[in-house]
This record gives sequence, structure tokens and C-alpha cells, in this order.
Amino acid sequence: MDTPDPDPDGAPPRPATLAARAGVARDPAFAAVMPPIYLSSTYAFEGLGKKGPYDYGRAGNPTRELLAQALAGLEGGAGAVVTASGMAAVDLAFSQLRPGDLVVAPHDCYAGSRRLLDGRAARGAFEALFVDQGDPQALAAALERRPAMVLVETPSNPLLRIVDIAAVCEAAHAVGAKVVVDNTFLSPALQRPIALGADLVVHSTTKYLNGHSDVVGGAVIAREAADAEALAAWANAAGVTGAPFDAWLTLRGLRTLFVRLERQQASAGRIAGFLAGHPAVARVHYPGLASHPGHELAARQQRGPGAMVSFELKGGMQAVETLLPRLRMFLLAESLGGVESLIDHAASMTHAELGPEGLRDAGIGESLLRLSIGLEDPQDLIEDLARGLG
Ligand code: PLP
Repeated sequence: MDTPDPDPDGAPPRPATLAARAGVARDPAFAAVMPPIYLSSTYAFEGLGKKGPYDYGRAGNPTRELLAQALAGLEGGAGAVVTASGMAAVDLAFSQLRPGDLVVAPHDCYAGSRRLLDGRAARGAFEALFVDQGDPQALAAALERRPAMVLVETPSNPLLRIVDIAAVCEAAHAVGAKVVVDNTFLSPALQRPIALGADLVVHSTTKYLNGHSDVVGGAVIAREAADAEALAAWANAAGVTGAPFDAWLTLRGLRTLFVRLERQQASAGRIAGFLAGHPAVARVHYPGLASHPGHELAARQQRGPGAMVSFELKGGMQAVETLLPRLRMFLLAESLGGVESLIDHAASMTHAELGPEGLRDAGIGESLLRLSIGLEDPQDLIEDLARGLG
């Protein structure tokens, strides 16, 4: 039983429709409108040597498969692998490399990705080189070393720097490298890296895709079926596939992705404007502001500026320590993309792992605060920040 095609001419449903109908009306047993959760770890063979569509839950699971199909459709890939976390997805994306292969990654990438790539490199899995991808000379010099893979993270975490995905893909492909884009900060509702040339897209589905801060999960979406098959085989070999209940919850969250982000993004725009006009704020990083260095590029390659905002305070660490306890609405917590608004002090929380030199290198100062804008009334959020800023 398939999702009914809403277009009588058979044209594929539009992305918002794909999301709203993720896993809907696909139950072959009882025609349940909403998909059941298949928790079984094992599946009976039809007979000796006669395997059915599934044999063992690590290798394949019908609920997880529905999520993989939905994510592949939304990102425009040939297939997807659903993993137990975003980090498992990042690890899976680089799992096919060999010792001696080079990975070029952003100098300001998510600290967990840096820790993983550094750790794998230290153990000889591949070499890792971290460069400022916004600096064309640094990127060109890195590509001259003929990397096997290039990781792009745009908008970057936490400074929301924008990297030109199409330009990086063209330059990387010219030297035979594959490009992996971490699309966690926007989701396919706002950015589709495969259409811009990417070979693989990775997600922490923990964030916007699930959207309710109650699942840790990840996914890799591949442009080519051969890559999707190789990654699915490795995910089974390494045992990093996601749990069925997590997949079911993520499918449920995915159905409201477009409406959530539309509202969160509208609120983020208002909040960025409020912060930009506040005398205690030194700088606001939000691609929707004309003052943002990546504003034009973001307008070209994204369907919107997103719902993450970061800003720096004039008073340094002391101002941070004054602001945080005054907030009642923004919760001091890591992560992002949920229905609730969060505030993160990058230097001591999400990015502490970088250490003083890494933080300096990535441009993350002690007064930088990152906001994940949720679904509360934006006026309540503005009033909360106004109270905090004094
Ligand atoms: N990629 C980005 C951009 C992230 O922000 C995160 C987590 O914050 C991850 C990957 C890792 O995802 P997870 O926490 O689901 O393992």
C-alpha cells in the first residue's frame, strides 16, 4: 500500500507534502493510516534459504525504512541510512575511507565532528585537515592535496557562517573528492545540498527533523544508490542503525517540519532584529540580516535564513553571567531545533572541547551566545531577552 499520489498526472508530491505524509497510509497489514512500530528484533524465514524482506533488526526494520525513504525523498537522494545519533551518521559518512585518504573539514565545524575526525585520524583511519572554507585561497590549497572527501557545514555552528555549497562541490569534484554536507542547521525544508552537487548529506535528526527534543538520532542520505547501499551495509556491519521507536517518533516529528520551521524562522527574524538594535549587544550573527557577510549567498542557496541566531555581548563574560540567570523562557541547554527555545554558551558548553586555541581559531569568543528559537510567542521571547539584557 503506497501513499496516494495527490497529483492526478503523477507528478511527485512537493516537499511539504512529502514531509506531512511521511509514512502515512503505508501499512500492508491493516491499512492503518499512521504507521505501526515494528519492534521485533528478528523475522521468520519463509523456509530454508528463503528470506523475507527483513531478517534481523540491525540490518533492516520496516519503521526505520519508512523514515529512511522519507528523508531520501526530502533531500532528493537515491537512498538513506538512519543511524542511532548524528555522530553515528557523521562517522558513517567517512567510514569508507582508507588510511592515507585526506578529509578536508571546516575549522569551525561542530566540535563533536572535529573530535571524531581528529580521533579517527589519530588512529590512522585517514588524515584530517581543518581549513577556513570561507577563505578561497585556504580551500584551494587544501584541494591541491587531492582529498578524498570534503565536509561542509553551512550555516556553521555557532557563528552561522555560510559556505557556497555549489562552488565547493564543483572545486572538490574537479580533484576527485566527494562532498558531505551537514544539513542539520536548516533541514531539507530550507536547504537541499544534493541539488547543489553534494554526494552525501548528514543530519543530526535530534534537531529540526524530529523537532521535539525527545530523540537522539541521525541519518546519511546519498545521491547515488551505490553509496546508499555501501553505507547501509557498513551501518549493519558496525551496528549503528537507529532504533524503531526513535524512527517512529522522528517520522511523527517530520510531518510538521515545514510549519514548525516557518514559524520558528519568522520568530528568529524578529529576535535578530531586536538584538541588533539593543545597546548591550556587540554583534548579531543571523543570515537574514543584511549586515551578515553571508546574507546574499544564503538568500541564493537557502529557502530562508533559518531559526538559529547567535550574538555577542559588549560586557564579555561578566555580561553573560548577568544575563543567563535573569532568563525565564530560554533554557540554558545544548542542542537545538526543538519546539522550546534554548540558549547555549558555546565557549563553555557545546564548543568547550575545542580548547582556548581552537575557540580562538574558530572565532568563538567568551561572550558568544547561541539561540535556538522555538515555537513560543515571539513577543514572550523578546521580552525574556530584554529582561536578561537589562
Ligand atoms: N552535526 C551538527 C551540526 C550538530 O549540531 C550535532 C549536534 O549538536 C551533530 C552533528 C551531532 O548530532 P547528535 O548529537 O545527534 O549525535
